[in-house]
Amino acid sequence: MATVQEIKQDQLLDAKKYVDDVYEVVKKRNQGEEEFHQAVKEVFDSLVPVFAKHPEYIEHNILEQVVEPERIISFRVPWVDDEGKVQVNRGFRVQFNSAIGPYKGGLRFHPSVNASIIKFLGFEQIFKNSLTGQPIGGGKGGSDFDPKGKSDREIMRFCQSFMNELVNHIGPDVDVPAGDIGVGAREVGFMFGQYKRLKGAYEAGVLTGKGVGYGGSLARTEATGYGTVYFVEEMLKDNGDSFKGKTVVVSGSGNVSIYAIEKAHELGAKVVACSDSGGYIYDKNGIDLATVKQLKEVERKRISEYVNHHPEATYHEGSTDIWLVPCDIALPCATQNEINDVSAKILVANGVKAVGEGANMPSTLEAIDIFIKNDVLFGPAKAANAGGVAVSALEMAQNSMRLSWTFAEVDAKLHEIMKNIYKDSVEASVEYGHPGNLVVGSNIAGFKKVANAMISQGVI
Ligand code: NAP
Repeated sequence: MATVQEIKQDQLLDAKKYVDDVYEVVKKRNQGEEEFHQAVKEVFDSLVPVFAKHPEYIEHNILEQVVEPERIISFRVPWVDDEGKVQVNRGFRVQFNSAIGPYKGGLRFHPSVNASIIKFLGFEQIFKNSLTGQPIGGGKGGSDFDPKGKSDREIMRFCQSFMNELVNHIGPDVDVPAGDIGVGAREVGFMFGQYKRLKGAYEAGVLTGKGVGYGGSLARTEATGYGTVYFVEEMLKDNGDSFKGKTVVVSGSGNVSIYAIEKAHELGAKVVACSDSGGYIYDKNGIDLATVKQLKEVERKRISEYVNHHPEATYHEGSTDIWLVPCDIALPCATQNEINDVSAKILVANGVKAVGEGANMPSTLEAIDIFIKNDVLFGPAKAANAGGVAVSALEMAQNSMRLSWTFAEVDAKLHEIMKNIYKDSVEASVEYGHPGNLVVGSNIAGFKKVANAMISQGVI
């Protein structure tokens, strides 16, 4: 008779074969979509022990179901620029999974946007949203439109044209988009205005990240950055440490980065570097956040201009070189694959203690491996940056109730949610034999709730 150990080994082998077979199907069906493959691989590898313990998931072929979007919409977005010329962009919305709630996920406007990018983001979003404990499914969208250098009027005309098609696919109980790279309160405002005009109804809950004067939630702007720092604070606390007195590097200087810097400073750390796609600034005295906010949120200028206000700081061309700056804590908050194996090795050699992913998939699979093998506390994106979508769900709740909570109330709920995500991820990592590995833990904790809901609802 087989021993318990042998049965486990058999089940693990079966589970591994199932996962590998489905991964081959994914690569075949989604050829050339490298970012999507990468996001899928990270999740799939984590799930092997789950399939070994729960063969019912294999019987329902849950993996092949969950990796295929329920719907992908791709559309033409024509608009007229300030010279009167017709421009054409491509719009996307991927409605990935609605097992636990209406599709929810941001819109990204960036020239690099394509089906692979939107699908990797939408796939991650399913499990991230599940981790928040809120009733929201997974979706994502965007366009290859580049907002840089465009006038407010051009941005408005583009957003209106984008909504002319998107309106047919979203709604407060159907699909609720929000911001992401290149989409902030200004863009959400223009899209909401056009949605309202086309529907002839004030459906506040159709978009989140709205201005606070018309249905937006207090603390939504801060939520992703603050949430990332709250998550890292939990990792540090569990290891008898804190942000106090730590040197921190934060990549990017957009929405997530700015509020990660703000909260890290509040907790007693010194953030010495931040960046944009052109390069990074280093300020040994600590980044002056008021200057960054003025340059980025108000004037929409380049981070290089920081040194004109702070001559003691230095500017360096090349955004990814920011990881050469020695730090105790690294918070990648710009974009996907900004930390590769080379950068990860440099961070480790410079003594990094913790990495918290504010951006989506900022570390390559090789970089993650290096962090974990070197005992760096690693907070993966779908757990560490879930605070933004969590507060978006709180915005939906406030819109439904037609009331608004104070900043302190929302911030307290956000803090609690981030602590719970940390706790759930740790518990899953222990239960499935990888104690402390939060990549495995967060993937499993996020996946199980979605898989169970899918099974309960039948093959539909
Ligand atoms: P954002 O406000 O548009 O800021 C993006 C920042 O990243 C900018 O500083 C930008 O520099 C930089 N960046 C963009 N593309 C880059 C590239 N290819 N190389 C180097 N730097 C680049 O966007 P965000 O909302 O902060 O989003 C940042 C990341 O967080 C994204 O991965 C997003 O998916 C993720 N995220 C956002 C939220 C949210 O609530 N906003 C929630 C969860 C996750 P330039 O100005 O030079 O382009």
